[in-house]
Amino acid sequence: MRKLDLTKLPRKPYGKTSCIDWEASVGCLIPFVFDEVTGYLKIINHLKGNYITISYQNKSKTLRTSHLCAFKFRDLIYKNKRRLQKFDLSNIPKKNNQYDWVHSIGKTIPFSWNGRKGTLLIVGYQRKNGYGYLRIQYEKQEYQIRNINLLNGKISKIISYGKYHYSIGQTLIEQKKDITILERKKVKQSNILRKKYKYHCNTCGYEGWIDETLIAISTYACSHCAGKVVIKGKTDIKTEAPWMIPYFQKKDAILLNTERKNSNKKIYPICPICGTIRKTPMQISTIYKYHSIHCPKCSDNVSYPEKFILEFFKQLNVSLIYQPKKTELPWCGHYFYDFYDPKKNIIIEVNGMHHYQEVKHYNRTLQETKVIDQKKKALALKNNMQYIVIDCRYSELNYIRNVLLNHKELHKIYPFHENEIDFYQCEQATMKSLSYKIYMDKKKHPTITNKELAQKYRMNRGTIGKILNKFHE
Ligand SMILES: [Zn+2]
Ligand SMILES: [Zn+2]
Repeated sequence: MRKLDLTKLPRKPYGKTSCIDWEASVGCLIPFVFDEVTGYLKIINHLKGNYITISYQNKSKTLRTSHLCAFKFRDLIYKNKRRLQKFDLSNIPKKNNQYDWVHSIGKTIPFSWNGRKGTLLIVGYQRKNGYGYLRIQYEKQEYQIRNINLLNGKISKIISYGKYHYSIGQTLIEQKKDITILERKKVKQSNILRKKYKYHCNTCGYEGWIDETLIAISTYACSHCAGKVVIKGKTDIKTEAPWMIPYFQKKDAILLNTERKNSNKKIYPICPICGTIRKTPMQISTIYKYHSIHCPKCSDNVSYPEKFILEFFKQLNVSLIYQPKKTELPWCGHYFYDFYDPKKNIIIEVNGMHHYQEVKHYNRTLQETKVIDQKKKALALKNNMQYIVIDCRYSELNYIRNVLLNHKELHKIYPFHENEIDFYQCEQATMKSLSYKIYMDKKKHPTITNKELAQKYRMNRGTIGKILNKFHE
């Protein structure tokens, strides 16, 4: 059983109802039951974007509040996975600090194994070729197992035999799990009899097979909800992220129907802007995450969210300076800010995922990023700037659109109505590359010099040269 008691936490008004005020909850205790462990989690910090830090005994963890409710704090409670398999060996006598198996006959070992509870009875013990073997009785059947394997929790063979644990028609609901058992069968896999169940997922409608031992321990049980299978026409890339289609070469087009947007499969993507095929492969999930393939030729190093936000402000008739330098912000020191509105003296930061959670292969830890963010904000405020942060952790049209529509601070300074903004146009703007524009200009007008291009695009001549060179590589 898993339970959290959030009813004692302070609340704040939210629309017509109310929600938990996590900021005011710092210092509060949350009573919980996590399988066989009962205790209190302490909220020790609140971070922007609905993240909290909780502690239990000597350990702490930062997680999304929604993940708290999904019980994603197992690692705080258990030291390692094996704790899932708990054996109560208190009935077994000891000799010289070792289990005395010879005198254990007739003793019982209560256990909890991947959510299953039961009792093993020791009915015999013998040594063979230097190894110790126990005879175990479980549900009226006898089994032989090496004592070391028992201590390591390798009892699947023992408890997998015999009766089915779940019955046909039974519905299992727990956290994110909501499945109904439709059919069951026994299959021999590498000499172990496994019990398989066909289930219907009441969340998404998917039907599939699952091993009995996995039902209790997996978060979803449904492999579709867990993101492991694709339903054609429903959760394939073509349907869920159609914007990705132009990134696939013809030979990879089949993957649009057979993979999901977060697939780890690698492809050699083609740049929809300039047609270049990347020489190094990329994971589909990475393309999805960045909404870009960082094209070796036309990439101008302006990210999807940055281009999106620039176009959004353009539609509001606000012209922002991208990455202002010392000429615009003499006080900025060695810090880089994303955007600056010189008319209103406002700094606008567009924050990607690494500002909210640890991102693999990113050159800074979350903590380092947070420290820098705080210093940058303090410096800007000290210099009489207003400071707005736009949460762009997902490079997705709908996500950023919702953030902008619900950004109270932003609305106060830049009032706008939903209908005034063409968000589709914002996404279209992310599909343009200034580098490519310059290259095409040069192609159309071969006589134009780098110096003239530099003047036209307000860039320095060296940069123009570098951009054109990339296309000629
Ligand atoms: Zn499902
Ligand atoms: Zn390109």
